[in-house]
Amino acid sequence: MRIGHRPERDKRITTHVGLVARAFGADGFILGDISDEKVTTSLRKVCEMWGRRDFQVVTGVSSKKYVREWKERGGMVAHLTMYGLHVDDVIDEIRKALGDILVVVGAEKVPRYFYEVADYNIAVGHQPHSEVAALALFLDRLFEGRELHFIYSDAKIRIEPCSHGKKVVRNA
Ligand code: SAM
Repeated sequence: MRIGHRPERDKRITTHVGLVARAFGADGFILGDISDEKVTTSLRKVCEMWGRRDFQVVTGVSSKKYVREWKERGGMVAHLTMYGLHVDDVIDEIRKALGDILVVVGAEKVPRYFYEVADYNIAVGHQPHSEVAALALFLDRLFEGRELHFIYSDAKIRIEPCSHGKKVVRNA
């Protein structure tokens, strides 16, 4: 879940949060408190072409209500922030926990509410960087690198790895 999105400024980076969520194994992307058709359209196009048509894209929901209801259903909330506990100190515990994980990333200043409601406030290192990098590294550690090998059976095209140039093939 991306919160604090500013349509004029963040369109690209918010789309990148969604792309990373999809490519690194999350089941969906939620844009809290605002709708942005351009972000939704970009993500849907990628899912259509590269697979994961079941990847959920939800926008315009109240982030606080969504988090509250998520927790009521027994889900875990992991808020990524440089002020939290180091990812390496909590990731094994999180991986072992049952239930779905809602990963929250911010834009500028994140309201205190999210620090308090989160089951885990997790730092991907204690330096300020980016929501895109934080999400990618968190998911990579959660899936222990396996997500980079996922193959999506509903993809229309796929890449044939090659040492030079580009090779893209259409799936039968
Ligand atoms: N000082 C801001 C804050 O309130 O955390 C940093 C904003 S940063 C541009 C945007 C988002 O990137 C943060 O809300 C957080 O989700 C993520 N982020 C940046 N650095 C991080 C770090 N070291 N560990 C975890 N998440 C980080």
